[in-house]
Amino acid sequence: MVMKFGSEISRLKSCNKYKTKKKAIKNLIAFFGAQPQPSPSLKAGVIVLFFIFFYFVLPHFLTLLSIIFYLCSMQELNDEYFMQEALKEAQKAYEADEVPVGAVVVMNHKIIARGHNQVELLNDATAHAEILAITSAFNLLGSKYLPEASLYVTLEPCLMCAGALYWGKIRRIVYGATDVKNGYLHHTKEPGPFPAKIEITKGILEAECAFLIQSFFRAKR
Ligand SMILES: [Zn+2]
Repeated sequence: MVMKFGSEISRLKSCNKYKTKKKAIKNLIAFFGAQPQPSPSLKAGVIVLFFIFFYFVLPHFLTLLSIIFYLCSMQELNDEYFMQEALKEAQKAYEADEVPVGAVVVMNHKIIARGHNQVELLNDATAHAEILAITSAFNLLGSKYLPEASLYVTLEPCLMCAGALYWGKIRRIVYGATDVKNGYLHHTKEPGPFPAKIEITKGILEAECAFLIQSFFRAKR
């Protein structure tokens, strides 16, 4: 008896739910059906907005997009230009029978310091191109940090030079050829010792940079 009463109650409940749902659906249909249709002036407004978008906003957007592409390509051209300058330094080292590595320090799109490997000339194992270039930049600026400067070097910096660049707080490091044997990544592995804000770009004029080093060691054999 109790069970039958219970099943009746639950059937009633489900019936109520169904009715409530049905009513709610009906209400919604009535509500949406009662909404006013877009007036002709609203349609005209939408057309004007489309017109403004296509004739005024879209061309500016495309211009902005082309400026961004232009700046990106300029960055690549700049990198290649400054790496060419670093290669000129490396060539000087080559001609002086030093391991041919060259570097330049760039600030505000200008070269403020240069250096090439002078280990043999100075009898100094630390006289790497990067060390000489950043030391020259420190002296020029009268500052122990280079937070607005970029260093371009033909070969991946060694652990010592990576340390010097780390302490010098340089903004960006750009290098050409990878040094599998003596490069800092051989010791530290990716991503290296640098904080995330220091930008690292590798492989700029890589073939030219590697060719110079390979030619030097081939001639030595
Ligand atoms: Zn070094």
